[in-house]
Amino acid sequence: STPGGPKVKEEKIVVTVRLRPLSKREQAAKDLVAWDCVDDQTIVYKPPSHDRSYQPASFTFDKVFGPYCLTETVYEEGVKNVALSALMGINATIFAYGQTSSGKTYTMRGITEKAVTDIYSHIMNTPERDFMIKISGLEIYNENVRDLLNSESGRNLKLLDDPEKGTVVEKLVEEIATDDQHLRHLISICESQRQVGETALNDNSSRSHQIIRLTIQSTLRENSGCIRSYVATLNFVDLAGSERASQTHADGARLREGCHINLSLMTLTTVIRKLSVGGKKSGHIPYRDSKITRILQHSLGGNARTAIICTLSPAQSHVEQTRNTLLFATRAK
Ligand code: ADP
Ligand code: MG
Repeated sequence: STPGGPKVKEEKIVVTVRLRPLSKREQAAKDLVAWDCVDDQTIVYKPPSHDRSYQPASFTFDKVFGPYCLTETVYEEGVKNVALSALMGINATIFAYGQTSSGKTYTMRGITEKAVTDIYSHIMNTPERDFMIKISGLEIYNENVRDLLNSESGRNLKLLDDPEKGTVVEKLVEEIATDDQHLRHLISICESQRQVGETALNDNSSRSHQIIRLTIQSTLRENSGCIRSYVATLNFVDLAGSERASQTHADGARLREGCHINLSLMTLTTVIRKLSVGGKKSGHIPYRDSKITRILQHSLGGNARTAIICTLSPAQSHVEQTRNTLLFATRAK
């Protein structure tokens, strides 16, 4: 009965793609729409007649969201089931993956907002359980970790290995949300802190990863008198621009742009590819090779679910990066 239906219900990794509308800037530059969502699972490349660099091609996913799709629909059909598993003690992570300007932040902010609403409505409807929600926020920039809830703590927090909790970020502030309004307020602090960095270093957000992490604990008093408790983390991850994951274009032009490869993003794509293969066949999973994968290790492996929304620009001028994102999405599912 959950909206979104069985397709995305129990899978460990749910991969969806979202094509945004052509932006005003792209329209003004007379850029053309090169991609079409022909149905809710298929996106097709339709090269303009003058462009012979790529053949028409079609890609299929669990779900494809077109330019007229609301974030609410993306949440309901691509994220909800994964996010709500955190209420039942299953770790969940929602990623936005895509090139800079493809709509990651736009999508992730909307998704986070919808998830908060949904979580609190479940809490209201589950009076037999006592809930506690804690939040922390961090940014990873050039493999340096910064606390988004505590601007005083510096730009290079240490990662520590805790025998029980796994990798923890030293001194990272974790606040208890008293209610949904308070939680929204704390989330907005994280979002504005990231923007502070953005003005200092003009393309900070294309190079940095942002993680907003909710820890959801609850206890249930059963009829028998037993107390059952649940705890899980729910991570909302707005990744660095995926152009920083591609090694294939390290030619002169790219190097001049100062665009170097992002270690966390590279490692994360490897980890996700291996997790999607699953089981023994995946071999060694290199969680320890980067900060983001260390921080998310326990939320990705084991008792965990992941939703990846791959965001795409429809513009002809971005066709190469759009194809790279679709190839990543294909490998991840
Ligand atoms: P990214 O975080 O991937 O760099 P943004 O989320 O900042 O990209 O999006 C780039 C621009 O496109 C923003 O102005 C944003 O408001 C707009 N945008 C992104 N996705 C959509 C969408 N689905 N519908 C309408 N506008 C969008
Ligand atoms: Mg962004």
